Amino acid sequence: MSETPTLSSVLGLPIHLMNDYPGWLRSRLQQGIGTHVVTLNAEMTMQAECDATLAKVIDQAELVIPDGAGVVLYLRLQGKHIQRYPGIELAESLLQSSQQQEPFSVFFLGGAPGVAQLAAAKWQQQVPGLNIVGTQHGYLDSTETEKLRQTLTQLQPQLIFVGLGVPRQEFWIAQNRFLCPQATWIGVGGSFDIWAGIKSRAPNWLAANHLEWLYRLYQEPWRWRRMLALPKFTQKALIHLTQQRVLGKMLP
Ligand code: UDP
Repeated sequence: MSETPTLSSVLGLPIHLMNDYPGWLRSRLQQGIGTHVVTLNAEMTMQAECDATLAKVIDQAELVIPDGAGVVLYLRLQGKHIQRYPGIELAESLLQSSQQQEPFSVFFLGGAPGVAQLAAAKWQQQVPGLNIVGTQHGYLDSTETEKLRQTLTQLQPQLIFVGLGVPRQEFWIAQNRFLCPQATWIGVGGSFDIWAGIKSRAPNWLAANHLEWLYRLYQEPWRWRRMLALPKFTQKALIHLTQQRVLGKMLP
């Protein structure tokens, strides 16, 4: 394994910093080392503050990447030279490279009925060597969930994308990863909707100015309540960073 992630923290939650997340994950995939990837943003950080179970799940994940602009700004204010790495881009990088070496088996779970299937068909067209072994929508009753568990146990996919939204997907992975202990599990939020062409990502100029959240609000105005987490995060982050600076000056 070429690079080891450096552990840092955002308001008490872990975050792993490194240059080559896809390379690190590919190596683990090839070795069959089970991995849970969390894509951390300000909204999730605030949710974890009110939910100890979510905080514990994030704490136990093998890889936590800086998905959101808020998290990246927080780390930069601490002097860390890091770039934002959106979870959707990590997922895309793994899918694109899948055909280069031995193609790993992939499973898509989540989204409204038909969406993961459509996303898989589009990917299959784009990357012909891709080995998507199954898809499943994310609105299951208990009988269907049991059937899905059996399917996963039988198929043992190496790479499993779970797009159920935060924190549902993080809990789903934590509770079910034992079914495929050698797999890499990633919570991908609404990525299937984007790959299927139902939603779109913010234009680059908005993302470059840390304003992707504004585009999401424009596309999904019902998110306004959830987005109140963003000013809350900014306030907490500034207080925390100020305290750290003051303490840093006081201590020898
Ligand atoms: N979803 C799902 N099952 C559920 C609730 C949500 O499959 O019970 C899917 C939903 O269809 C959407 C995704 O989860 O595709 C959530 O996307 P969102 O962008 O809201 O994710 P987040 O911002 O929470 O990461």
